[in-house]
Amino acid sequence: LDPVPSDFAISRAQRPKNITEVATEIGILPSELEQFGAYKAKVQLDILERLESRKNGKYILVTGITPTPLGEGKSTTTVGLVQALGAHLNKIAFANVRQPSMGPTFGIKGGAAGGGYSQVIPMDEFNMHLTGDIHAISAATNLLAAAIDTRIFHENSQKDGPLYKRLVPAKKGGRKFTEGMLRRLKKLGITTTNPNELTEEEIAKFVRLDIDPETITWKRVVDCNDRHLRGITIGQAPTEKGHTRETGFDITVASECMAILALSNSLEDMRERLGNMVVASSRSGQPVTCDDIGAGGALTAIMKDAIKPNLMQTLEGTPVFVHAGPFANISIGANSVLADKMALKLAGTEQGEDENEDAGYVVTEAGFDFTMGGERFFNIKCRSSGLTPDVVVIVATVRALKLHGGGPNVSPGAPLAPEYLEENVDLLRKGCANLCKHIANAKTYGLPVVVAINQFESDTDAEHQTIREEAINAGAEDAIVSNHWAKGGAGAVEFAKGVIKASQSTDKNFKLLYSTEDKTIEEKLNIIAREMYGADGVELSELAQKKIETYTKQGFGGLPICVAKTQYSLSHDAALKGAPTGFTVPIRDIRASVGAGYLYALAAEIMTIPGLPTHCGFMNVEVNKDGEIDGLF
Ligand code: ADP
Repeated sequence: LDPVPSDFAISRAQRPKNITEVATEIGILPSELEQFGAYKAKVQLDILERLESRKNGKYILVTGITPTPLGEGKSTTTVGLVQALGAHLNKIAFANVRQPSMGPTFGIKGGAAGGGYSQVIPMDEFNMHLTGDIHAISAATNLLAAAIDTRIFHENSQKDGPLYKRLVPAKKGGRKFTEGMLRRLKKLGITTTNPNELTEEEIAKFVRLDIDPETITWKRVVDCNDRHLRGITIGQAPTEKGHTRETGFDITVASECMAILALSNSLEDMRERLGNMVVASSRSGQPVTCDDIGAGGALTAIMKDAIKPNLMQTLEGTPVFVHAGPFANISIGANSVLADKMALKLAGTEQGEDENEDAGYVVTEAGFDFTMGGERFFNIKCRSSGLTPDVVVIVATVRALKLHGGGPNVSPGAPLAPEYLEENVDLLRKGCANLCKHIANAKTYGLPVVVAINQFESDTDAEHQTIREEAINAGAEDAIVSNHWAKGGAGAVEFAKGVIKASQSTDKNFKLLYSTEDKTIEEKLNIIAREMYGADGVELSELAQKKIETYTKQGFGGLPICVAKTQYSLSHDAALKGAPTGFTVPIRDIRASVGAGYLYALAAEIMTIPGLPTHCGFMNVEVNKDGEIDGLF
């Protein structure tokens, strides 16, 4: 329709297929599907064993240029591309996207199902509870938080005797050491696995964690933009006998459990990572893990269903995996490794089939721009999964490139300045420096790059031509206009053909940006800052230097690094547009997500739980008498 109706009106006007039909079309067996109502289902992990012998389908990474606060349409392009591949070019094509957090959904940003005629449906189910994965992550994270504070409480208020009796399996016919307890014994160098053989000294070592409350990094979480939970004091009831402590909440999607859900390769791998999460240090400086607390098994139990990817569909009935949703600031901002692996097998080829002609496509999205989401996608997610994409797509818009060329600021809700609504090739050409830097960055990984020019109504042909010229000069295989927002998959067919062609290129030489083990933490930071951001290097605060020393001593120096910085510039400073040079990135602090498997460096004041604006998304929402939600977007 013209004009294009609201995202929600479009979503509701389309009747989705029953999810069993979507599953059958892509070769999922009924026994592998766990339905949640008519339009959503979880897919069991054992499908990976059944399809093990298949060759993976083509793996396409969608990223973007440095965005404006309005978003430049990565999710919309991801969905448009699979609709073109699946519904118009007859390929099996999966969109693999993150599950949105209800924080931003009811705050400023709104949902994340794509937009216009390129959406995941039903968008209300997509944007709200889905199948409860985020709730499971909250439950797991909060159980561990309760366990940490309770452990300190009991250690402080009891002598070794009663504590010992409760924590070591009973001597007479009682329980055995659990897997988590065995890990702790091993870490302590205790060789026996029989509770009866422990010496008094070993028991004392096993039982006492001696957590230094000042060092606790583990926080409680909630999936809501509740700013008043950023800093709180716990333990104020008389029953806690004065054990008060200052702490705070994070939003669930910023939690380490969420990052682990995204990065795990199997249930066993998730169990191991959950157990390895470091929550504090002991008074003698040893890292204290989730398994030391004895909670690794229980957390896995809470998350054992969350690990199964969720199947949904696009407006044009093509399959979508919605799975995991780690924030793109302190975390990797990518959907799950397992959803990607599953989709790659379902889109894969059997022996005797042609790897180009017969392969399907898996289009996966990484948060923020290429230089943030893409860099982490390669150096953290691919390093962990062992997968290699075939093509990198960079989504560009005329409006964002004009902003990089010196156009006035844009903000949500405010009308756009005339520069953005009328042709202005000069401004646009200047701003293409930003696109060119992202293309150059993407090419350092040795893969073909295709630019998607996400068409807006006010764009002109001359503007599109300018982007195309600049992109091809910078080394992109192609730069293709795509009008999927207004026209759905039909508007993205030429773009999809460009992606297919690039995916068949034999000129690939995939490599990561840095090696982890033989580089120090500071060296890795300098490589990212210099080669990706265009900086002269990093400058470490005293705190960051101290943290580097501690983490190196604790044996975590060999982890890859996720840099938390603004998404509005290639640099650490949101005001520096285009492709800035001649700056140094200040690193204020370094933290560790040991279970997830990376360190994160803070180059910015980072919000781990957003706040609500004056006029919030939730204010528009109502439910009619038929139970339909109105006003989500
Ligand atoms: P990102 O994933 O990059 O944050 P989204 O795909 O979520 O961006 O798009 C951001 C917003 O812009 C959405 O509301 C979407 O509907 C809208 N949008 C995306 N592409 C277009 C377009 N070509 N024309 C008009 N609106 C668009």
